[in-house]
Amino acid sequence: MGGAEVSLEHLYKVFTMPEGKSSKLAQIEQHLSDNLAGFLSQHVVTSVKSLEQIEKNFAEYAVPEQPEFVSQHAANLLDKLVANSVNTYSPTFIGHMTSALPYFHLPLAKLLVGLNQNLVKIETSKAFTPLERQVLGMMHELVYGQSSDFYGTYLHSANHALGAFCSGGTIANVTALWVARNKALPATAQFRGVAYEGFAAGLQHYGYKKMGVLSSKRGHYSLSKSVDLLGLGREQLLTIDCPTQRLSAEKALSVGKQYQNEGNKILAIVGIAGTTETGHVDPLDELADVAQELGCHFHVDAAWGGATLFSRTYGKLLKGIERADSVTLDAHKQMYVPMGAGMVLFKDPNDSNAVRHHANYILRAGSKDLGATTLEGSRNGMAMMVYASLHIFGRQGYELLINQSIEKAKTFARMIQSNPDFELITAPILSLLTYRVNPEALQDKINRMPQLASALNLELDQLNVSIQKQQREAGKSFVSRTRLQTEKYNSQSITVFRVVIANPLTTELDLQNILNEQLTIAHKTKMWQKLCAKHKKAE
Ligand SMILES: *Cc1c(COP(=O)(O)O)cnc(C)c1O
Repeated sequence: MGGAEVSLEHLYKVFTMPEGKSSKLAQIEQHLSDNLAGFLSQHVVTSVKSLEQIEKNFAEYAVPEQPEFVSQHAANLLDKLVANSVNTYSPTFIGHMTSALPYFHLPLAKLLVGLNQNLVKIETSKAFTPLERQVLGMMHELVYGQSSDFYGTYLHSANHALGAFCSGGTIANVTALWVARNKALPATAQFRGVAYEGFAAGLQHYGYKKMGVLSSKRGHYSLSKSVDLLGLGREQLLTIDCPTQRLSAEKALSVGKQYQNEGNKILAIVGIAGTTETGHVDPLDELADVAQELGCHFHVDAAWGGATLFSRTYGKLLKGIERADSVTLDAHKQMYVPMGAGMVLFKDPNDSNAVRHHANYILRAGSKDLGATTLEGSRNGMAMMVYASLHIFGRQGYELLINQSIEKAKTFARMIQSNPDFELITAPILSLLTYRVNPEALQDKINRMPQLASALNLELDQLNVSIQKQQREAGKSFVSRTRLQTEKYNSQSITVFRVVIANPLTTELDLQNILNEQLTIAHKTKMWQKLCAKHKKAE
């Protein structure tokens, strides 16, 4: 097989818009899109090939010398990459927050890539900039519900921002704590502020030994990255045990007070609205009171759970979120937008000025360049996907999607509870739940002799890890697993299956099949046979 020609003439062709529907590139495009549709419509999560086998396709380490024809390369991608990726559209893929997308995003993605706008600066984005500001405003209104005067003043103000659009929840959390840090160590007559003089000078100027961030043990690991990056240090992320899966406001207050009494300063309390592992919502209203008492920033990480606000019924679970100084939201989770759509919203439109940055050739003072207050530089127009989704679904459409996910999770919980060989570990508050396989005879024994639980849990951990791995490798369905401390087992950490209901097309039959598959796998394990023989059901 000969390669493509190495000539500028050939390269110019690659940059030229293809002519007509019968052009070579149009044919390739059709072929790729047919193949993608075929892949996504399979009711299979992934091929049975092992990662080691797949790595062999990606073993070459030198940059290819010869150009390749686009057609040749497309075939290569389909064969090596697409065929061995994960079908997140499968209705039996229920283990993660990444899920199927509505199909209108495919043509929109073409528009986005085609236009290749850069939101860092008005000169490379024009209409995309007001669009992004409007999207931030709509999400701000959903969370904070301010007056029309407020939005009239701030939505497009060059000197304010209602939030920052970014690639995801991680950057959103970093941005929120960055703003909080700069506000907590501001400039005075003798001090130019932490942004200029640095963190060590800031602590010294204000007489603090250390600065810390409070959250529950269920806080996302991006918080740990944030305190590392901002100079506080990972040990200053004060995580509080939460066997109930919710941060106790009382404990937060006492830990915070003690920390401050020792000459330190609490920078922020982070409440979680939908924890990554169990979907629980911290008592936001009470945490807002604690933040007020400690005199610190109150941030709510609603990366996953924030979309619940679209629902009049379940949005109430997030009561108190409107008191947060900042809120993180990921449109690429429960808003069904492609990845790369995170946001942090600020209650006070002045807050973004704590991190404002100017540069001469770009981001001039007084301009509306979004890059002046965002951590990221070059950024694409992902806000367009959120904009389109907000219009195509509307609040009422999103409400239906959110409600059906939560209700389906509740149905799944009932299915688990009605099968004696499963144990529901955390019931769904939102559309996330955890459970494990626990043979009836064993559950019986643990109920009668709770002192045996801690030893038996170790054996059950092994059984559940083995089931999860085998199910994943079989490739028909996917449920994730995690380790959790639970109230029921005296704060012992146990291994559990974790389910996130996201795909609206997942049916009750799909869920039943997943449970059946898990039991079929379980019955074949040596562990199951051993456990059942040893702990026969009591007469
Ligand atoms: C997903 C998630 C994050 C991280 O968001 P990314 O978009 O993956 O960077 C942070 N916090 C919570 C609660 C999340 O669910």
